Amino acid sequence: MNRHRTDPPASGATDPGLVSRDLRVVWHPCTQMKDHESLPPIAIRRGEGVWLEDVDGNRYLDAVSSWWVNLFGHANPRIAAAVARQAQTLEHVIFAGLTHEPAIRVAERLVSIAPPGLGRCFFADNGSAAVEVALKMSFHYWHNRGNTRKTRFVALANGYHGETLGALAVGDVDLYKSLYRPMLMDVIMAPSPDCYARDPGESWESHSLRRFESMERILERHADEVAAVIVEPLVQCAGGMRMYHPVYLARLREACDRFGVHLIADEIAVGFGRTGTMFACEQARITPDFLCLSKGLTGGFLPMSVVMTHEEVYDAFYDEYTSQRAFLHSHSYTGNPLACSAALATLDLFAETDVLESNRAKAARLGRRARELEAHPHVAEVRQCGMIVAIEMVKSKATREPYPWQERRGLRVYRHALSRGVLLRPLGNVIYFLPPYVIDEAGIDLITSVAAEGIELATCD
Ligand SMILES: *Cc1c(COP(=O)(O)O)cnc(C)c1O
Repeated sequence: MNRHRTDPPASGATDPGLVSRDLRVVWHPCTQMKDHESLPPIAIRRGEGVWLEDVDGNRYLDAVSSWWVNLFGHANPRIAAAVARQAQTLEHVIFAGLTHEPAIRVAERLVSIAPPGLGRCFFADNGSAAVEVALKMSFHYWHNRGNTRKTRFVALANGYHGETLGALAVGDVDLYKSLYRPMLMDVIMAPSPDCYARDPGESWESHSLRRFESMERILERHADEVAAVIVEPLVQCAGGMRMYHPVYLARLREACDRFGVHLIADEIAVGFGRTGTMFACEQARITPDFLCLSKGLTGGFLPMSVVMTHEEVYDAFYDEYTSQRAFLHSHSYTGNPLACSAALATLDLFAETDVLESNRAKAARLGRRARELEAHPHVAEVRQCGMIVAIEMVKSKATREPYPWQERRGLRVYRHALSRGVLLRPLGNVIYFLPPYVIDEAGIDLITSVAAEGIELATCD
């Protein structure tokens, strides 16, 4: 008996041959594989711009930038050509003892666009690894400076920093974390500045400031034992696209300085223009001690991450070999030249056109169309930060009581959108748009109207 139903989904989307082969040997991320009995994975054969095409020729507008990595469209010809050229010259080389121009140029260019003072780039190969690097570097910095008591971290409730054990420990999305708690280091959680929780009539700024008081008390009490505070600047993406005011970051920077604690800004999701500025930290006019970048760094082509820091951190590791101060962390694919060439082409695309400016008009249209749903009886909030727009579906608009998670209302929106040629991937009851920057007006109108239909269908009983 075949345990897997491999009929194409209602949208008629998938080649049964590929799907049954997939279900025999592949284990997909972030998926209850049994779900594929009723909703098989869709086999994609090509991408172009905002569009994905499956093996049967059905097209889907990728409204989530393939887990937030894509900036300038699928199979972007400029990035593709750069990677192809690099592949014929130098595909990879050990990055200890040896170096290469693509990595040097990526580092030079990141230093020139990052918040001022971040003059050093440490390469890793995915976002979670960058978070691990930043945590270890901060701890190690204090150790090298003779302070061995700073062994703990402060993080924000509802934050997300990846899935490896250190990154999971500083995250706070229960769905991914709670089972693994016995394996994780003990982290001090501060209340989230998330403005969805603000009082009726209260401004984002005043709510975020009020929440900062708890962070300040935590730092007052624990500064002796804390190496760093880690935050996602402005938007807690995996936590449901929850947003807060930049004033929180400004206050946090000031407090970290006052209490002698590092600030780690995890811009893995929000970096590279997503929030309307190149980096979200710019909106608070701050420079973190560590800036974690990945996802959009390569335009969505290849896995790579960078941790940027300043010279004072670097200097604390710079000594005779026998002092045992060096940062001995490494990944096999550190500084991969193919990924670097994708990053350089991506940075070229930013340098050649005013991407942030053209995104402003797109973001305005996206927000305007999404806000048409504010009056919907099961929508509690439509919120926006640059090219991220989120719609919070609730059971009760008056009390903001959420739908029970077991009802999987967001999944209904997902299914409907697929049948209409749009890839949305709600986070629980939060429907969001985080499209590639090359989306046009027709694309914006399509994803917002399909989401509106999906929300109507998902909330009608
Ligand atoms: C995606 C994400 C990560 C983890 O990156 P991976 O490459 O998936 O390991 C870390 N932090 C934030 C804010 C993210 O959105």
